[in-house]
Amino acid sequence: MSIREPSTRQTPPGATNPLEMALHQFDTAVGQMPGLEQGIIDMMRETKRELTVNFPVKMDNGSVQVFTGYRVHHSTLRGPSKGGIRYSPDVTLDMMRAMAMWMTWKCAVVNLPFGGAKGGVIVDPKALSRRELEHLTRRYTSEISILISPQGDIPAPDLGTDPQVMAWIMDTYSMHRGYSTPAVVTGKPLEIGGSQGRFEAPGRGVMFVAREALKRMGKSIEGATVAVQGFGQVGRTVASLTQGKGASIVAVSDSQGGVHNPHGLDIELLIQHKQRTGSVVGFPGAEGLTNAELVTLPVDVLVPAATENQITRYNADHIQAPLVVEAANGPITPEADQILRDKGILIIPDILANTGGVTVSYFEWVQGLQHFFWTERETNERLRDIMLRAYESVARIGEQRRVDMRTAAYFVAIQRVYDATKIRGIYP
Ligand code: NAD
Repeated sequence: MSIREPSTRQTPPGATNPLEMALHQFDTAVGQMPGLEQGIIDMMRETKRELTVNFPVKMDNGSVQVFTGYRVHHSTLRGPSKGGIRYSPDVTLDMMRAMAMWMTWKCAVVNLPFGGAKGGVIVDPKALSRRELEHLTRRYTSEISILISPQGDIPAPDLGTDPQVMAWIMDTYSMHRGYSTPAVVTGKPLEIGGSQGRFEAPGRGVMFVAREALKRMGKSIEGATVAVQGFGQVGRTVASLTQGKGASIVAVSDSQGGVHNPHGLDIELLIQHKQRTGSVVGFPGAEGLTNAELVTLPVDVLVPAATENQITRYNADHIQAPLVVEAANGPITPEADQILRDKGILIIPDILANTGGVTVSYFEWVQGLQHFFWTERETNERLRDIMLRAYESVARIGEQRRVDMRTAAYFVAIQRVYDATKIRGIYP
């Protein structure tokens, strides 16, 4: 397993149930899209199918423990459903529903031929041995194998899962089939059909959109000050790549706390410090700060890259960054979203900003189906083109309809799913 820390289970004040948040965002957008047929709106508001599995795992001490997992499909109208698998004690069916729905909109915003799905198991992966984790993954894969396939539903990593877990999923599915099926899952290790650039892709996509947003604000990423909340796969890649483009990363944090240096942090040294000590806390040459302090710093760009519900009605008024790029899923509650907009803060929404991962997952799936693999340069260039095209289409709709970027992204996504439904027609 790669570096994984204990999950932070405290729910911030003002937090919103993710499903309520997803539906609120959908309803807000649809309320401003006259002329859509009500029956199709109702269809898009619901998940397509939901599977709950309760399954046993034999633990190292010989006991049998029963775990609960889910796989939810929100939509398969534009192609197979796509979405990560989360291992966390915080997993709920509502969380899966919300995230499956977000995946539909994400894939539609960047115009990938996918619908949305999400899966998860209620488990703290840190509390399991490697053997237990493998057995849990293989049994969960067997249980959800009635839904997953290269043509039907393609899982990927999310919080608490990593390329090794994806390898076990691919192997288990392949054992059932009797032949190797790399395209059943993405985010795999390179050795078994993973894509070059997949690990950095979510962070790289965030860097592309942050740079584009700054450019459109008449600013440059060079010299821009950036604060990144969360220093996992996404957060540390964003920090490293934006620093590589000349930005000054003045603060980062993880679940244990943060570090701040107004003159900029050396991200490569900080990554090594975290690998050594398990946290960014205590990094030499930087002052400590809390997560609450980090999000209110007067920086050019704030990147929440940790978990949902980090900016709520309780702290939104104190946010000073003129640009917030949502690397995490749902880091800003709807109430906070309104407060930030009233303050004139530009928010690049998650369904646009953090689609780099799913876009390179799409590339990995295509490469797996064709058994023909691209270089990292080709992957990164195609990712940049897709992200910038998506940014342009959202910004254009935003300007035409005079709405914020989140609403515009929903307009683009919902319209694409709506059009696909109308063209396909209602079966039978
Ligand atoms: P990760 O587990 O690798 O890292 C999460 C980081 O956030 C860790 O450093 C953790 O310590 C920190 N963290 C947790 N709670 C925190 C808190 N309250 N305050 C500050 N830091 C906290 O996860 P990741 O893959 O980097 O994902 C981060 C976010 O990005 C999630 O919302 C995830 O859904 C989203 N996302 C991930 C991907 C992907 O492919 N990895 C793609 C799109 C979106």
